Amino acid sequence: MIELKNVKKSFGEIDALRGVTMHVEKHELLSVVGPSGCGKTTMLNIIAGLCSPDDGEVFINKVLVEGKIGRRRVHVKPSKRKMGYVFQNCALFPHMKVRDNVSYGLKAMHVPKREIAKRSSTIMEFVGLQGRADSYPDELSGGEKQRVALARSLVMNPEVLLLDEPMVALDLKTRESLRSDFRKLLEVLKVTVVYVTHDLAEACALSDRIAVMGGGRLEQIGHCDGILEKPSSRFVAEFLGLNVYDGTIIHEPSGQNKIRIGDIEIATPRLWSSEERSVTVTLRPEDVILSSESEINNQKWCGCNCHSLEGTIVEIVKLKSNAKILVDAGFPIRSELTLSSLKDLDLDEGKKVYVHFKADSLNIC
Ligand code: ATP
Repeated sequence: MIELKNVKKSFGEIDALRGVTMHVEKHELLSVVGPSGCGKTTMLNIIAGLCSPDDGEVFINKVLVEGKIGRRRVHVKPSKRKMGYVFQNCALFPHMKVRDNVSYGLKAMHVPKREIAKRSSTIMEFVGLQGRADSYPDELSGGEKQRVALARSLVMNPEVLLLDEPMVALDLKTRESLRSDFRKLLEVLKVTVVYVTHDLAEACALSDRIAVMGGGRLEQIGHCDGILEKPSSRFVAEFLGLNVYDGTIIHEPSGQNKIRIGDIEIATPRLWSSEERSVTVTLRPEDVILSSESEINNQKWCGCNCHSLEGTIVEIVKLKSNAKILVDAGFPIRSELTLSSLKDLDLDEGKKVYVHFKADSLNIC
């Protein structure tokens, strides 16, 4: 279990962490996402003991490792924290074979030779490095190097594992296969993991909960689906790639509520407020359906309060398996479609299209 209480850290003028309070459960894998420079690595370094906070407290398994007891400053050394740390660049020793890289920490602790050999080969097999023990790092692929870095940490039986963008330098295919192996391995190991990544899809694939950081603050923490459905702020919604609008809630004398976005008013059954007020409205691209028909013909949407707006396709960006479509419907609406749906609907930039979404899909931050 890891607990951070109001942790602050500045580097000169730069406030890298502005009071982060966070809790990682025992044996949980928590992914931390956020834009470059938001403080993710600084937070990992403080948990690892490689850098001391200016203020605040850090507890590992309920033991204070950073903070103060009375006037006495507490800083438990990194080597005493029972932690493994895997960096972006692996940081392997180039002149050592895989087996020596993996067993390095055990040798430094003067563990008996037979035990070193046994633990190292068990862990190398566990992470899928069998047959590579006598190779040097420059004879390995990027994915294999990351497996060595992981094995080198795991062989020390850490209670906490910190991973800082371990797959950032790998190609997409290797990333995907390594990601699925990592998840399986970490589930078996029963270790508390903090996994830093830029990649939201990777974060959601690996962990149940994610923490979104921005500008040295923890913006939101929770289950991936919950955060995607209900981002707590404009910052989080924009980081997640959702549609984000400035809206106004209008309460009509008839009792009906509407949200005004630009010049368009959208009726909504939810009673958010009895007064007119400005709000931030979000809508997931996946919750937007495009069609050539002005009415939605979808069984699942029967009986729902849904909205259909006419618009023009402004931009289509094709990705590996889906496409992102930007429609001008009086305000910009982003939608996501599979490539086969894009083909079936015969959509093209400049074409007219109808945009459909449920009123319930609108979220007020
Ligand atoms: P990235 O995703 O690009 O790795 P990050 O979210 O991990 O970024 P940090 O590396 O924690 O961000 O950096 C947070 C801020 O603190 C940045 O503005 C960075 O330039 C600054 N910073 C980090 N370490 C130092 C340092 N040792 N000296 C000066 N400034 C630093």
